[in-house]
Amino acid sequence: MKVTEHIEKAKGETLFSFEIIPPVKGRSIQELYDNIDPLMEFNPPFVDVTTSREEYVYIDRDGLLDKKLTRMRPGTVGICASIKHKYDVDTIPHVLCGGFTREETEYLLVDCHYLGIENVMALRGDAMKEETYFEPTKGGHTYASELVVQIHNLNAGQYLHEVIETDNCSDFCIGVAGYPEKHLEAPSLQTDLKWLKRKVELGAHYIVTQMFFDNQKFFDFVKAARAAGITVPIIPGIKPIAVKRHLQLLPQVFRIDLPQDLIDAVEKCQNNKEVRQLGIEWAIAQSKELKKAGVPVLHYYSMGKSDNIREIASAVF
Ligand SMILES: Cc1cc2nc3c(=O)[nH]c(=O)nc-3n(C[C@H](O)[C@H](O)[C@H](O)COP(=O)(O)OP(=O)(O)OC[C@H]3O[C@@H](n4cnc5c(N)ncnc54)[C@H](O)[C@@H]3O)c2cc1C
Repeated sequence: MKVTEHIEKAKGETLFSFEIIPPVKGRSIQELYDNIDPLMEFNPPFVDVTTSREEYVYIDRDGLLDKKLTRMRPGTVGICASIKHKYDVDTIPHVLCGGFTREETEYLLVDCHYLGIENVMALRGDAMKEETYFEPTKGGHTYASELVVQIHNLNAGQYLHEVIETDNCSDFCIGVAGYPEKHLEAPSLQTDLKWLKRKVELGAHYIVTQMFFDNQKFFDFVKAARAAGITVPIIPGIKPIAVKRHLQLLPQVFRIDLPQDLIDAVEKCQNNKEVRQLGIEWAIAQSKELKKAGVPVLHYYSMGKSDNIREIASAVF
């Protein structure tokens, strides 16, 4: 089922969902299952699977370093298929502009269609580690909005090089990213919202937000989005703080602010066990308030660990 259909079917009840990251190349998919298993009792209607940008690795060949481009966490579509099959839930692959030509994207989307995947998240992807700014891949898209157009066209039988009249078109429900504290490259929140609205006008059906730790930022964002004419569901993304280092890491990577109360409380923690507990309590409080405000889904960034998400879900659902 599509995300929008799950939301409609829930008739105002807040749904639980989460995002997982493919294992590092060579590791077992069982690790993922071990993390997913404890979360299934909360009946997620869908699970997101991220896609990682390619990166350079240096291989030592007799003292000479060979620079190779590789993907450290491959397998997004395969994982989507296996989870869908194993748990009977909808799975949502994250489809990126970066690292993929339009042809490769078409191929990937056709795979998804054959596998019965009905939703995709259309994302630009971040800059590669070596880049200061995002550089579009040769033959690929520059903005997520262009990817939305490709998916939207495919849904109408319009492939890259031909229009195919068929009654077996894909009908992907398209998710896109939104940023309550604005995207790091956007000159202002208003400009960012303009481009977000464009993604929706071009065919996106729902929005999932970047993580935030102050609900007021989310409420203000939704208000501004609605005022700008964006009417699709907006799903908040929640990440529990788990280690002290997150105080620096999360603002640096995601360009988000942390509330002073949270910073003060983390600083008082004696060790990461206490930080983890604090992160759980903070996320529970955030989730309960968001649920009370009637958000359609609470979407958790698991970052490969589910024990804290399980505790949060137990308290909220
Ligand atoms: C829910 C969620 C899931 C994510 N999952 C992944 C993942 O699996 N893998 C991954 O690598 N990254 C992921 N990301 C990160 C995301 O790829 C980055 O934040 C990326 O930098 C921007 O992606 P986007 O789709 O929002 O880009 P876009 O919508 O293309 O926006 C990028 C920037 O360009 C601006 N912009 C947009 N259109 C135009 C235009 N036409 N002209 C000028 N400026 C424009 C926007 O304001 C913004 O500043 C995720 C983010 C979120 C919120």
